Amino acid sequence: MSDALSRLIKILALERKQGYRNKAVIGGLDKFASRWEADARTAAGPDSAAISEIVSLLLGYPAVEDIAARERIIDQIAVRAEAAAAEIDGQSAATRMPRVTEVDRPASPVTREPQMPRQNHPSAQETPAKAGGERLEEAAARENDLSLPTPAKPQPASPEPSPSPVRPIRPPSKPEAAPHTRTPAPPAVAELEAPPAKADRSAMRGTGLDAPVTRLPNVGPSLAQKLEKLGVRTVRDLLYLLPTRYDDYSRLRTIDKLKYQEQVTVIGTCWDLKSRIIGENRRMITALVGDGTGEMLMTWFNPFVERRLRAGRAYTFSGKVDSYKGRLLIRNPEFEPLEKSQVHTGRLVPVYPATEGLTVRWLRKIMKDTVDAWAADLPDFLSDDLRLEARLIPLGKALVQIHFPDNQEQLSAAHRRLSFDEFLLLQLGVLGHRKRFRDQAAQPLGVDEATYAPFLASLPFSLTSAQQRALQGISSDLRSPHPMSRLLQGDVGSGKTAVAAAALWAAVANGAQGAIMAPTEILAEQHARSFEAMFAGLENPVAERPVRVALFSGSMRRSERVAALETLAAGEIDIAVGTHALIQDDVLFKNLAVAVVDEQHRFGVEQRGALRKKGLPPHVLVMSATPIPRSLAMTIYGDLDISVIDEMPAGRLPVKTKWLASSQRERVYDFIRRQVQSGRQTFIIYPLVEEGENSQVGAAVEEHARLSNVVFPGMRVGLMHGRLKGEEKDAVMRAFGSGELDILVATSVVEVGIDVPNATVIVIEGADRFGLAQLHQFRGRVGRGEHPSYCILISDADEQVSVERLQALENSSDGFALAQVDLEMRGPGDFFGTRQSGLPPLRTAKLSDIATLEAARAVASRLFASDPALERQEHRALAEQVAAFWAGAGDFG
Ligand code: ADP
Ligand code: MG
Repeated sequence: MSDALSRLIKILALERKQGYRNKAVIGGLDKFASRWEADARTAAGPDSAAISEIVSLLLGYPAVEDIAARERIIDQIAVRAEAAAAEIDGQSAATRMPRVTEVDRPASPVTREPQMPRQNHPSAQETPAKAGGERLEEAAARENDLSLPTPAKPQPASPEPSPSPVRPIRPPSKPEAAPHTRTPAPPAVAELEAPPAKADRSAMRGTGLDAPVTRLPNVGPSLAQKLEKLGVRTVRDLLYLLPTRYDDYSRLRTIDKLKYQEQVTVIGTCWDLKSRIIGENRRMITALVGDGTGEMLMTWFNPFVERRLRAGRAYTFSGKVDSYKGRLLIRNPEFEPLEKSQVHTGRLVPVYPATEGLTVRWLRKIMKDTVDAWAADLPDFLSDDLRLEARLIPLGKALVQIHFPDNQEQLSAAHRRLSFDEFLLLQLGVLGHRKRFRDQAAQPLGVDEATYAPFLASLPFSLTSAQQRALQGISSDLRSPHPMSRLLQGDVGSGKTAVAAAALWAAVANGAQGAIMAPTEILAEQHARSFEAMFAGLENPVAERPVRVALFSGSMRRSERVAALETLAAGEIDIAVGTHALIQDDVLFKNLAVAVVDEQHRFGVEQRGALRKKGLPPHVLVMSATPIPRSLAMTIYGDLDISVIDEMPAGRLPVKTKWLASSQRERVYDFIRRQVQSGRQTFIIYPLVEEGENSQVGAAVEEHARLSNVVFPGMRVGLMHGRLKGEEKDAVMRAFGSGELDILVATSVVEVGIDVPNATVIVIEGADRFGLAQLHQFRGRVGRGEHPSYCILISDADEQVSVERLQALENSSDGFALAQVDLEMRGPGDFFGTRQSGLPPLRTAKLSDIATLEAARAVASRLFASDPALERQEHRALAEQVAAFWAGAGDFG
């Protein structure tokens, strides 16, 4: 490394140590800059662009007062200095071993290997102080180049674990960690004598992808820490840190052809540079740029820019064309010297997620190096046949193009490939899970029509044919000696509870137990009440006593809970109803045969899984009002069979939905008064002002006071929110349910499940604050009985998204149609997301991309049918990808 660079690096370290006080050199870093520049600009020194960049950063440093910002600048200088050093060292290494550097260029980013034993290697001894870049090339060389000097003596077999000669990435002790290595890593000497075949070289690189990012040149511990905030730990993570968007600078324009507001790239010479202070200490840099067709201005408020630009030199500038006093200009363009490779300008430029202390520019640079070195010849885990059949580009190419796309077409091809991969891995995992779950033994239940007869007779209605179909599907599952795993899907109000109750009854009729878990206490209490009513006249045929239903709630007293647990374990409770309280470790059933999870999208996966862990796996029914397209359901719930209730109980009138401005509130209140006078009830929902229910509680409490005293005096106005104690909630819900309250002022705690058929109006204040799915759920609280019902959305929102959402709700009462709207408007997120489903997060794939999803699904099913465990040689790499993709995902199911 050049002296100038090593001196600089020392000073940077000192500056860090001293807490960024600009005291590391006498006179400050800005004074030091010009001295250093003179030293650095020697023949053997760093390239001139690097020097200029470093100098401009040094010059700017004292002007920055914020310590964190100073730290960032020091980091950036260090990155550049280290890069320059590595480059110089790389060049000197290259002169010694030209052949090697050529062949193994791609491996060069892996340089830092502080823990790597070096003593055994002769050339390492020759140059003990050299930076790591060279070491790697030596190492790579040893794997590929027989002509290299070998150690003078072969290493004697030693009882002590001797450090093996450099394996750059993979720790030698863990050959099994190498996914694509067919044979275990040979001992070091053998390796030197018989260099691995080409395939193994890529195998090595495959493993290298799992090396920490600190092995990349220019990435030190502090940058690694920042990358970690973006979830990036390894080289692979980095390659898969995908741009959040692209700025299209690929449109090259001459100055005379510029159009206002266009995103363009201009190539021009910087003729004049000016810098002046504007307003309060803001420095504006102005460059006059000309390209032969005209001249224009570029402006920046970034003082560093001044040192990076030189009058008389040509640059590419990219940005959006703006205007000032009738003249076109570009504010704050990205720019690069014309002769340098175009990373930041002149193309579809990737923009990465930002995080404290990492500039987009830096990330882009690191990414470019990494992609150039690693992506292109990354081994593809899809066979060529498979890939061609699915019309996919190779993995390496996809990674190159997703970061630095040549054009839009390449970008979409890359996107499609990476999305396909995710969908494929997702589905293979789901299929595997499904099989493992189905292979378990479960308790077969004797169920036929006669079994349900007494239960159905006790219902105040007869099942709709959709409910009957669903129950038939469930019954045939229950008869099987393998556990049921079924999703019951049905829009809000379609009558899922009755079907669930029938399934629970099937357990009781067989002398076993049932359980139903609800996401909120209010809902659990409601289920407990309605099940008590539904099962009131029924008998447990084995114990010959009335059916017993018990509620397990979080607010139970300890002594109550202990007693209830005992009776549950003794089998004296037939149906347990509860919230999460039901899946605590101490809850033991005597013989749990059927478990139902209501509103499953509200539960985390672990919670869903936990019910399954009670005893022999029970038959599980999960219920959801979340309407999703079938192919998507097959993915998200791919391990579940699906029943859909696609019909509402007879006599339901669609809920009339109206969106009103807040200025119409008095009219709404009048309407409510008339409804109450004719015996109906109303919900009034208060919006989430901020994240969390707390702010909502405040609003609801205040409004409750106003509404009950001022707006609706003489009417019975109740209040419901999450802060009430269990028994208070229960009392309020009971009162509202039995008609003792006319109006219920509530927070979103009543969002799901609440069933009060006499309620005909729901007013949602600040409706734009809620998602479409949530609004649809709220609306489902009314229209459950015979009376015409109304959903009134109050909102003054005028942003397009809100307007579209509220209008969609006004125009459609069909949950499936709304899900489609939601999907188109913003992709899956609100109605469904992988987060709730417990699936691994998707980086590229959008669940709304049904076409790719289905293509991947077809391939997955075929692969699974022919080789379920992906054991065949040609599926090995794929199997590893599936495992890695699913590692860390919850206990899915
Ligand atoms: P969801 O599917 O949203 O959970 P519920 O199970 O709460 O819906 O049912 C909504 C309302 O419809 C309840 O009041 C329930 O008693 C009633 N219901 C369910 N099935 C029928 C039916 N077949 N005929 C008439 N009413 C029904
Ligand atoms: Mg329900």
